[in-house]
Amino acid sequence: MTAPRRTGPPPPPNLVLTITPAVDWRLDWCHACKAWTRATGSTFLLTPDGVATVSTWSWCEVCDAPGEAHRD
Ligand SMILES: [Zn+2]
Repeated sequence: MTAPRRTGPPPPPNLVLTITPAVDWRLDWCHACKAWTRATGSTFLLTPDGVATVSTWSWCEVCDAPGEAHRD
């Protein structure tokens, strides 16, 4: 008895990289506000070769809030 054989085209080679964008962030210390109001994060890509960091950013909810200038 022979096993049934599949017919049809073979699966395509894995030429397309699987790239998954991801963002990781945490609260950070803002020296201007002297408070934990700054969000610092990294945007990176998950590829078959590993993780590639694309950019980093930071944003303070007080300093960078529109319409609310922070002064010492
Ligand atoms: Zn701030």
